[in-house]
Amino acid sequence: VRLKRLYLHGFKSFATPVELCFDRGITAVVGPNGSGKSNIADAIRWALGEQSYGSLRGRQASDVIFAGGPGRAPLGMAEVSLTLEQEGESLGLPFTEITVTRRVFRDGESHYLINGKRVRLRDVLQLTASLGPDYTVIGQGLVDAVLSQRPADRRGLFEHAAGIAGLRLRQDEASAHLAQAEANAVRLEDLLRELE
Ligand code: ATP
Repeated sequence: VRLKRLYLHGFKSFATPVELCFDRGITAVVGPNGSGKSNIADAIRWALGEQSYGSLRGRQASDVIFAGGPGRAPLGMAEVSLTLEQEGESLGLPFTEITVTRRVFRDGESHYLINGKRVRLRDVLQLTASLGPDYTVIGQGLVDAVLSQRPADRRGLFEHAAGIAGLRLRQDEASAHLAQAEANAVRLEDLLRELE
């Protein structure tokens, strides 16, 4: 799986729409301090469903929306589209190119799209999990964070690297269903007892 394109509009410092195309091999992004290099890495993680605004160097959803600049009014929406290219169907979808889009509005409402179709966050997380070790964004400070993380969080990183994060997602869902079914069973037993 290869990262092919990244489109940003209204995300952090990217007020005007920008499209970045990535060739095969290594891509280096260079620029002065504060010019938005890390914002590009943030955008990739955000489009792939990142839920922690703290790890995106913000506090809340609206922090990723362009806040205005010299002679430029703030925007009402941030949008990032990430295009991945796959050989075969390793991402579990029958397309060569998969574009994941995430939008957020100032009121915090979020939309996720895969190839232009509205999907749930869960679908995006499933896709991200199936990227497994192909996708790891090592941001500034991650090394420190890894060293100081709680063991459970650290295990999450290794699980992601080993490509089993998707299985954990399904396991969590299955556990939730099981708990619901157990609660239903208890309720049914109560009802039966009342009828007896
Ligand atoms: P360094 O080399 O210092 O790490 P960098 O190129 O990685 O810098 P970033 O951290 O990506 O820079 O960008 C920081 C810039 O993004 C700051 O100028 C900050 O004001 C701007 N920025 C962040 N969030 C927003 C926002 N919501 N609206 C407008 N600008 C923003």
